[in-house]
Amino acid sequence: MTTDPISRFHQMLHTRSANLAPGDPVPDPLVMSSTFALSDQPDPARIYGRANSPTLEALETRLAALEGAPCISFPSGMGAYGGLLMATLKQGGRVLTLSDGYYAARNLLTEILEPFGVTCDTCPAAKIEQAVLDTFHMVIVETPSNPGLSVIDIAAMAEKCREAGALLVVDNTVCTPLLQNPLDLGADAVIVSDTKAMGGHSDLLMGHVSSHNSALMERVQSVRTLLGLNPGPQEAWLLIRGLETLEIRLARMCANARAILPLLETSTKTRDILYPEPHPQATDQGFLVGVTFTDAPTADHFLSLAGFAATTSFGGLHSSGDRRARWGDDVASGFLRLSFGVEPTVQLVASVAMALDKL
Ligand code: PLP
Repeated sequence: MTTDPISRFHQMLHTRSANLAPGDPVPDPLVMSSTFALSDQPDPARIYGRANSPTLEALETRLAALEGAPCISFPSGMGAYGGLLMATLKQGGRVLTLSDGYYAARNLLTEILEPFGVTCDTCPAAKIEQAVLDTFHMVIVETPSNPGLSVIDIAAMAEKCREAGALLVVDNTVCTPLLQNPLDLGADAVIVSDTKAMGGHSDLLMGHVSSHNSALMERVQSVRTLLGLNPGPQEAWLLIRGLETLEIRLARMCANARAILPLLETSTKTRDILYPEPHPQATDQGFLVGVTFTDAPTADHFLSLAGFAATTSFGGLHSSGDRRARWGDDVASGFLRLSFGVEPTVQLVASVAMALDKL
C-alpha cells in the first residue's frame, strides 16, 4: 500500500474506472433506495439503507483509498465527531481539546457529553505539545487550528498520547488527507468535515471518521447505524464528484493564498497576518489566511470591494471571508479568516490589490 498522498489520490480516481465493464456508466450510479430485495441469506450490506447503501459504499471506498485506512461517513463533520465520541467515550472519560479550535466541537463535549459523565478540559493550540496528558483518555487537536492557524506536531503528540495511554484524534478538515495524513503520523483516528475542501463546491454537508483500529471502527459503525446518522445517497454522490477534482482545486487554492499573502503582509490597512508555518508533516501550508482590519465594518468593506462572499464556511471554489468574532472566537472584531478559491490568480491578485487600495 502506498503512503504518498498524491499516489493515494491517483488510486482513488481509479477505484471505479479501473473496473468498468463495457456498457457500464463511467461515474458511480446514484442509487436512491432505502431497502433492498432479500435472499434467504441476505448480504448484510444490502438489507436496509440505514446500515449501508451502494452509493455510500462507493464513497467510503474512495475515502479509504485517500486516507489509506477504512472510513465511515456521516452527514456532517459534527456528525462524525458525534459518532466517534459516542463510540469511544464512556462515563468518567476525560478529554483534552483546544481552547482555540473549532467551537462547535468544544460545545458538543461540554453541552451534550458532559451530562453523560464525560469531562472536557481545554488548552491553547500553542501550548498543547507541553500539556501533561496522564489523566486524559482522549486528546483532540486540529492542525492547523481553526481560526488561529497554529501548527501542532502530530507525530510528537501521538508519541505523548501513547505514553499517557490516551487516544489521539486529529481534526484534519483544514488540510484534508491530500495535504497531511495524521494516521500516517501516528494519530489513532481522524475526523474530517467533508463539507469544506473535500466536497469543495459549497453544496453539501458531509464528514467522515477514519482509523486503522478495527474495533474502534466497528463501534463507530454501530453508533452510526443505531443513531441513524447515515448520509443520504445524493450527498454521497455529490461528494464523490467533488473528490475527483480535489487535487487540482487544492493546488490552485494554495497557490492563490500564496500569491495574495505578500499583498496582505505589506498593506498599511492590515495587521497580524496568520498563515500556517511550514512543517514537514504537511505538503502545503494551505489556502486559509487570517488577517485583521481596523474594525468589523472595514473587514466587511474589504470583502465587498474584493468581491468575496461573506460566508462562515471555507474550502469552496470561490474566495470568501468570515469575521470570526461574530461567532464568539477570541479574535479582534476586524479579524477575517480568508479562504482562497480557484479563481484565476492574476485577476484575484488584481481585485485584492484594488480592494486594499480603495479601503
Ligand atoms: N471541524 C472544523 C475544523 C470545522 O471548521 C468545522 C466546520 O466549520 C467542522 C469540523 C464541522 O463540520 P460540519 O460543518 O460539516 O459539521
